[in-house]
Amino acid sequence: MLNLQKTMVTPQVDQGSTNHQCMGPKTIRFQPEQCPACLSKFSLDQIMRIDNPAGEDSMIQGDLATSLRGLVYGRCRACRSLIAMDERRQQRVLDQIYRDLPDTYWQELSQQDRFANIVEDFVSVRAEGPELWDVGCGTGNLLARLHPSWKKHGLEPGRRAVKEAQRQGMDVREGTAATAQLRDVADVVLAVDVVEHLLWPIEELTAIHRMLKPGGIIAIFTGIADALIPRMAGKSWYYLHCVGHVTVFSSEALKTMLSRIGMVDIESHRIEHQGAISLRQWCQRVAGNGIRMALGRPAACLHFYHDHQLLLARKPVEFN
Ligand SMILES: [Zn+2]
Repeated sequence: MLNLQKTMVTPQVDQGSTNHQCMGPKTIRFQPEQCPACLSKFSLDQIMRIDNPAGEDSMIQGDLATSLRGLVYGRCRACRSLIAMDERRQQRVLDQIYRDLPDTYWQELSQQDRFANIVEDFVSVRAEGPELWDVGCGTGNLLARLHPSWKKHGLEPGRRAVKEAQRQGMDVREGTAATAQLRDVADVVLAVDVVEHLLWPIEELTAIHRMLKPGGIIAIFTGIADALIPRMAGKSWYYLHCVGHVTVFSSEALKTMLSRIGMVDIESHRIEHQGAISLRQWCQRVAGNGIRMALGRPAACLHFYHDHQLLLARKPVEFN
């Protein structure tokens, strides 16, 4: 049904005139031929360089910390998604980032009861059964916060996180939906803070579709590349400082991809990421950045505010 053939990544020498200080005089740019978000031929509309990523620094270790100090994103002209166009487009580089992440990385994920309650409220009224899978579940922080009436399972590629979840007695297996190759097992699949980490999200989403029973639902939580606040923040948007974020969907691109893999009843709800700041705090930081820039200092990151969506969709009962 779908053309899942991976496009080749073309290393190109970037001859642009923007600041290359942190990335060497000639930056190798990795521009995909096909947009990983909308799957059309990739046409670059805007380029954003993050010279000193101030986000998940703990994700970069050792040699990589030296070689990957700057991040480059390109905006797809067709769908407005933001796509990583630097060394991270090579799977081995991403694998290196994720290998042996420090325990602190996992501990910080999905710790908030309030967030778990919001997600649970959305899925519990739509779910037709109790079998719930959290794909990319980390150490199981979100699973642990869901009501015990769910039959909870998790998939997680990070080996150390899987071991920790299993130590706590959870049914968490090492892998992704694509590697686990499960079929018709889930009434609900959660993918929280997952799709933006994938070079080719269509593969994982197609595998999640297979995991779902007919009538099953998926709940995807991710940032929105074309929302007002991220567009205003530009390269100060904290989300773009997270080294693992390689495919930042626009709102429509993710809906279209879900429709393309055969999902129906697609709904988008704006909910906040845990640790999001208030509008007042966001405005204060924008004002602070104005002062910093006037003093010749680099702008500080603008943390999460009104920049995430929870996308819900259902696998139709009659799907073959
Ligand atoms: Zn696109």
